Amino acid sequence: MTNELSQLRALQNALRPGVKLVAVSKTVGAETIRQAYGAGVRDFGESRVQEALPKMERLADLTDLTWHFIGRLQANKARKIIEHFPWIHSVDSWAITERLERIAGELKRRPQILLQVKLWPDETKTGWSARELEDALPRLQALEHLQLRGLMAILPLGLTPEERLAAFQKVAQLAQSLPLPLEELSMGMSGDYPQALAAGATLIRVGSLIFGRRSV
Ligand SMILES: *Cc1c(COP(=O)(O)O)cnc(C)c1O
Repeated sequence: MTNELSQLRALQNALRPGVKLVAVSKTVGAETIRQAYGAGVRDFGESRVQEALPKMERLADLTDLTWHFIGRLQANKARKIIEHFPWIHSVDSWAITERLERIAGELKRRPQILLQVKLWPDETKTGWSARELEDALPRLQALEHLQLRGLMAILPLGLTPEERLAAFQKVAQLAQSLPLPLEELSMGMSGDYPQALAAGATLIRVGSLIFGRRSV
């Protein structure tokens, strides 16, 4: 990944203070993750538990590395996710929130979570609508074990840069309008992170730009 590593440096240098790069390492081997760590990356995002666990084991000596779960949350994986990921970005419904809250209590963990929103039609994605968040406010305010930190969004394909900016701004406005601690905004991937940063992203999830194109 020598070539991509230069992209990584440029990306890191371009981020203003308060914005964190989450290097999306799905499909990437442990030794490549170690190289990115050597280049200063401390936050890594994975979307599948089965794939992540062996890599975590091989990298267990890097004790200041933080793992972020960014994939579709399956109820039967919730326990393993709570056990292994201090950050969970893709909490997309009240049903999964409730389950994570219960398991976090059982395991005495306090993971930081982000609520994945979907403020536009997209059949390939799940996520809270603004209305669903409003309806769940009292329950979200009463969470004891999960630490609610912000919102996460993935844009639909095919938007122009202007439309992307507007969509990310909509997420930022929603976060500000709700009486919840939503100071973190996880938005922006390799193809749209400049617009996400312009709209106030605090966590960008970048994979292929750093590690090269994925074959799977
Ligand atoms: C794969 C993935 C990314 C990274 O995508 P790139 O286009 O490779 O940067 C970011 N967020 C989520 C949720 C992903 O699944």
